Amino acid sequence: MHWYFNDRLIPAEEPVLQLNELGLLRGFGIFDFFLVEEGTPIFYEGYEARFLASARKLGLPLPLSTGELRRAIAELLQRNGESHAAIRLLLTGGYSPDGYRPGPSHLAILQHPFVPYPAEKCERGIGLQLNRYQRQLPEIKTTNYLNGIRLLPLLQAAGDLEPLYHDHGYVRETVRSNFWLVDEEGSLVTPKRGVLQGITRARVLDLARRDMPVQQRAVRVGELSRAREAFITGTSKRVMPVVRIDGRPVGDGQPGPVTRELMSRFERLKQEARKRSAARPEDR
Ligand SMILES: *Cc1c(COP(=O)(O)O)cnc(C)c1O
Repeated sequence: MHWYFNDRLIPAEEPVLQLNELGLLRGFGIFDFFLVEEGTPIFYEGYEARFLASARKLGLPLPLSTGELRRAIAELLQRNGESHAAIRLLLTGGYSPDGYRPGPSHLAILQHPFVPYPAEKCERGIGLQLNRYQRQLPEIKTTNYLNGIRLLPLLQAAGDLEPLYHDHGYVRETVRSNFWLVDEEGSLVTPKRGVLQGITRARVLDLARRDMPVQQRAVRVGELSRAREAFITGTSKRVMPVVRIDGRPVGDGQPGPVTRELMSRFERLKQEARKRSAARPEDR
């Protein structure tokens, strides 16, 4: 496996960083993460736009143009030769002269094996644990997952997948996914503010709006116990049913019909994206 560091491909196991890198010293960094299926980066434009926006909002200059970034990704995929993969773009504060101030930023492009979640999680649904937390710069995909990783042993002990963040009585998102519910009236609802604007979330919003009542609005923690259905969305989780929150069943404790419908619509949309790009290889 090869990875990309700044302007060149390097073997993944090759050490490349000095230890005064600001991403390591102070957690100053952003990333993005997308899938490649049958050689095609899925919904790439959305991820690239969010990566550039995250970089701008944190004041991290990107050391190459978007054209160069695309070429670097293509070169990496070609070199590694896997048709299914996950790509992580990582941009960090660089070597700090004094342990605090950024130096010239570092760009890394990592390729990971494509490991879909076990089908069983999608069929039976997963559990979440409420946790009071607000991500610091919610609209930026920063590398800071301190709180989520700290909670891993607790989640594992309860057999739950992720913490569900809430703050001042309002539900936000899980540590790595956006959160949705079907409310008492049958409307599909997802929190509007204080969350990362997920690429999967945006696609699912489009798919739902065709014929479902949809609201992006504030969601009170108290609504969770009355929800008919819940699910989370994210790049590797896709649309994943939530059947349990803090050990209590959501609705009847089974993945619901709205969730199932959106799961299959999303799979079809990805299939279409793959086909479209296969028909236009020059866009890759
Ligand atoms: C990545 C991420 C999501 C999901 O976004 P996608 O673009 O759908 O993968 C949601 N919340 C947080 C905090 C994330 O890091």
